[in-house]
Amino acid sequence: MSEVDIVVVGGGAAGLSLARRLTAPAGPGRAVPSIAVIEPPTGPLSSPPRTWCFWERGEGDLDAYVSASWGRVLVRGAHREVVSDGRGHRYKMIRSHDFLPAVTAELASHERVRLLTATVTGIVDSPDGAQVTGTDATGQPMCVRGRWVFDSRPPQGLPPARTTLLQHFRGWFVRTASDRFDPGVAELMDFRTPQPARGLSFAYVLPFTRRRALVEYTEFSPRVLSDDGYQAALEHYTRRVRPLGAFTVTGCEQGVIPMTDAHFPRRRGARVFTIGAAGGAVRPATGYAFATIQRQAAAIATARSAGAPPLPPRPHPRRHLAMDAALLRALATGRVDGGAFFTRLFDSNPLPRVLGFLNGTSSLVQDVALGLHCPLWPMTRSLLELPFLPRQAAEDQGQGQEAFPHAAQRKAHP
Ligand SMILES: Cc1cc2nc3c(=O)[nH]c(=O)nc-3n(C[C@H](O)[C@H](O)[C@H](O)COP(=O)(O)OP(=O)(O)OC[C@H]3O[C@@H](n4cnc5c(N)ncnc54)[C@H](O)[C@@H]3O)c2cc1C
Repeated sequence: MSEVDIVVVGGGAAGLSLARRLTAPAGPGRAVPSIAVIEPPTGPLSSPPRTWCFWERGEGDLDAYVSASWGRVLVRGAHREVVSDGRGHRYKMIRSHDFLPAVTAELASHERVRLLTATVTGIVDSPDGAQVTGTDATGQPMCVRGRWVFDSRPPQGLPPARTTLLQHFRGWFVRTASDRFDPGVAELMDFRTPQPARGLSFAYVLPFTRRRALVEYTEFSPRVLSDDGYQAALEHYTRRVRPLGAFTVTGCEQGVIPMTDAHFPRRRGARVFTIGAAGGAVRPATGYAFATIQRQAAAIATARSAGAPPLPPRPHPRRHLAMDAALLRALATGRVDGGAFFTRLFDSNPLPRVLGFLNGTSSLVQDVALGLHCPLWPMTRSLLELPFLPRQAAEDQGQGQEAFPHAAQRKAHP
């Protein structure tokens, strides 16, 4: 059995971001820890390729991996259109099929890192370390011991919640025959799509050039659609709502992200922590997780190099989780019209204030200012009833396997 300082289970967004941070120069007198990153062989457990979008002010540490970014955003409500200037914030896109191989290659050349191909099946905690066991690519048993273990394997189920909606989507990478897009503007939400009975739907358009874009149909609703349902929604949007003229589809992406007010554990033992989506990094009201994953990775690396226990920090402030829980409840009960809600949010607030909230970095004063532009009674009612609502398993909310993102998501890039 080999022994290292840190074992990272899962080489996806959270695992590789953490390993990357831990191998950054630690400062005078602080050695880089020895690290094992364990990722299964390509197969059914691998996370499908995906695009990660996030907001960032100015230049960032991950700019080398960014494939596109936008300085302005457009939100289209049923009756009005809002264009906002990011005032220095950019909406950045990183594609997993760029990021993961590049970071893996960087780590492979680092003398303190071992990249192991194996499927982890067990983690046994003890007061001074934890033992990670599994099966390697040839079917042989594998065992590594770490002083600290960070587990990012996607959850196989969801903890009980008061409200769980699914953010589910299918997108087309399109190439149009004529100029149809403004590559300076990310069309973040277009609510002119037919709205589902419960929850909301919108389309978004992320243009790469005047003729190439990712056009995605998204719902926040209790159930995923059938293949035909997504096909029809995208056909309707690209032919009738926002006609693209003649175009070809060069790739497709699809996914499901649970939007839930469930509690995710950050700690699973004296020496075992959960990170990434499994550790609650996904923001309940938006489905965003990538920026939070980066913040957590940086904080863990800082704690370690300071000699402190590297407990991942709380992914989201409690206040934001309460606001998100109220919004999820208001959307799920149909008390707020999602399209009108988000259009007003962008229309009535300066973009940096909205982004502060979405990024989890806004102050109480900024949140109160934001709250004043929300439909007060439905949101207050939803907030006040939260303590009296039981937490139920996703299955009991009728979602079953659909709510388990790993099983449900699928994505294929050109
Ligand atoms: C399709 C999609 C699009 C998304 N887009 C955005 C976005 O634009 N912006 C945003 O902020 N968030 C987005 N998210 C949410 C979130 O950022 C992603 O889900 C992100 O990939 C989560 O990172 P993770 O490391 O927790 O999980 P993953 O990236 O899924 O990584 C988990 C890793 O664990 C490995 N693994 C699985 N089983 C085992 C095992 N038994 N042993 C060892 N390793 C194992 C997998 O192979 C994988 O590499 C998106 C999610 C999805 C599903």
